[in-house]
Amino acid sequence: MRFCSLRSGSSGNATYIGYKDVHILVDAGLSGSTIEKSLESIDVSPRDITAILITHEHNDHIKGAGVLSRRYNIPIYANEATWVSMEKLLGEIDCDNKRFFKTGEDFTLGDVRIRPFKKSHDAAEPVGFSFFCGQNKATIATDLGYISRGVAANIMDSDIVLLESNHDIHMLIHGSYPWPLKKRILSEHGHLSNKDAAEAIKKFIKMKSIGIVYLGHLSHNNNKPEIAYKTVTDVLKEEGIDYEINMALRYKESDVVEI
Ligand SMILES: [Zn+2]
Ligand SMILES: [Zn+2]
Repeated sequence: MRFCSLRSGSSGNATYIGYKDVHILVDAGLSGSTIEKSLESIDVSPRDITAILITHEHNDHIKGAGVLSRRYNIPIYANEATWVSMEKLLGEIDCDNKRFFKTGEDFTLGDVRIRPFKKSHDAAEPVGFSFFCGQNKATIATDLGYISRGVAANIMDSDIVLLESNHDIHMLIHGSYPWPLKKRILSEHGHLSNKDAAEAIKKFIKMKSIGIVYLGHLSHNNNKPEIAYKTVTDVLKEEGIDYEINMALRYKESDVVEI
């Protein structure tokens, strides 16, 4: 399995997962050309992309999906409610490239088994994804207000996890956003704070049920990579846990993890 966060953050998200001859893009929330260049930088041709999987219809997850689908004839997979919400935003998509999955029901692409799971966020029917490739599992869980039991069960036993660490609560509360927006972000349908991510990671590490951790979907206005990193590692240190924490950044590919 090859895993790379191409871009992560409130200004655009795209993650690459490859296994054998299957090449998956999870979300395409940047311009088509940015994603093309980013894929090429990790030696993946956009022409070889098997499918684009969409977590939810927010612009930072779908911006380049329509362009890439038209340019390279790539199928787009989403659940029905997400299709209804995003269809107009994507532009014309070839009928054959409109594919559907059901939240909670596994489907396969080649030898990759994919589980779209429910999460709480202010979108039509947002999902996270787990990918099962041979003995390995990777899970993407960003854009969620809290970690429900269901989400935790899906993160459990993942060799790679990309978890949201959206905002520093102090920066958000004292920042310039209008109060209704602050309330939305802090709500159960908003985003995970650095502290939320830290507490969750601590639990997973203590249960020995997590492998490589990436913190992602950082807010541009209410967070900084060094603050997210410090918040999480400080919580772990308090418990005497020394664990490598990786960052999925806004303008740069992560290292490609191969397991
Ligand atoms: Zn969102
Ligand atoms: Zn987002």
